[in-house]
Amino acid sequence: MPIIIHEKIRIGVSACNAGARVRWNRAGWDRIAPLNREMTSFVWTPVCPEVMSGLGVPRDPVRISGGNGRDFWKAAARMKNRSGEDVTEQVRSGCRDCLEALKRAGVEAFVFMEGSPSCGVYRTTLKNKRLGNPPGVFGAMLLEEDLFLIPALDLESPIKWWDWRRRLHAFCWLKRLQIDGKEQLYTAWHHLKFICQEVDRQEAQAIGARLAGLPKRFSPQSAEQWKSATLRLLRRPSTFARITSVMLKHWAHYRKHFNPEARDITAPVRELSKYKFVEELLSMEKRAVTESYDFEGAPVLFRDKR
Ligand code: SF4
Repeated sequence: MPIIIHEKIRIGVSACNAGARVRWNRAGWDRIAPLNREMTSFVWTPVCPEVMSGLGVPRDPVRISGGNGRDFWKAAARMKNRSGEDVTEQVRSGCRDCLEALKRAGVEAFVFMEGSPSCGVYRTTLKNKRLGNPPGVFGAMLLEEDLFLIPALDLESPIKWWDWRRRLHAFCWLKRLQIDGKEQLYTAWHHLKFICQEVDRQEAQAIGARLAGLPKRFSPQSAEQWKSATLRLLRRPSTFARITSVMLKHWAHYRKHFNPEARDITAPVRELSKYKFVEELLSMEKRAVTESYDFEGAPVLFRDKR
């Protein structure tokens, strides 16, 4: 049986991806609405660090000068707008205010606008395929806070969103788990090891080995270190090819388990539309709950108490 969590996960989001037209040129997108009914399984908190800095809309676009977002917080880089005006102090205040709001809201995850010098995490430019000099200034803060980070654009891909969601649930379950003994550690790893291996087999093996090498006597400090390493792995970005290949593996296992009853899953996955593919993944989740099917790909699920 999968682990079921009932408490809704609170997610922060770059406001320009939650329907607010707050980009420097008044652009904005609603990337949450297409989640439809699933949107209500989470509680969303939109924030815009640049608007909270008091820069207004529309405004000159800003850029980091002299380094990346981490350098910015070490006072080794500055934030300037297109006219060359130094807006470092305003942006510092804006970022801090947003983080405070996110903490008040109790967010455990953040959906960020990739490519922004403020909210970007793995890219700070949208030009061609360049990465810029990541992370952005607010992105650097988000990384420091150990939040689960999801690029906003991935909400538009049903398969990528499915992958992020299953890992988000696992991440939040583990983060909330109070570990008081070794038995609990082993049980947690038993639930999460497959999903960790799917993100990075080598790193998962290292985490497993670290667990096996823990001192005989339970040490809360070692348990915390192990937990942090597992959380970091769970939030690591994956690739479309990797996600699809692990999903195919689960699908094949599912068919083998239920065949010939699994008539609801008949066509070869490669021929299915991505929407149909995700529908099938959801039906695997459902059977995991109703028929105690061991679906290792989604070890933690959310179900509304109602
Ligand atoms: S990327 Fe971040 S700072 Fe820029 S408009 Fe969107 S929310 Fe505001």
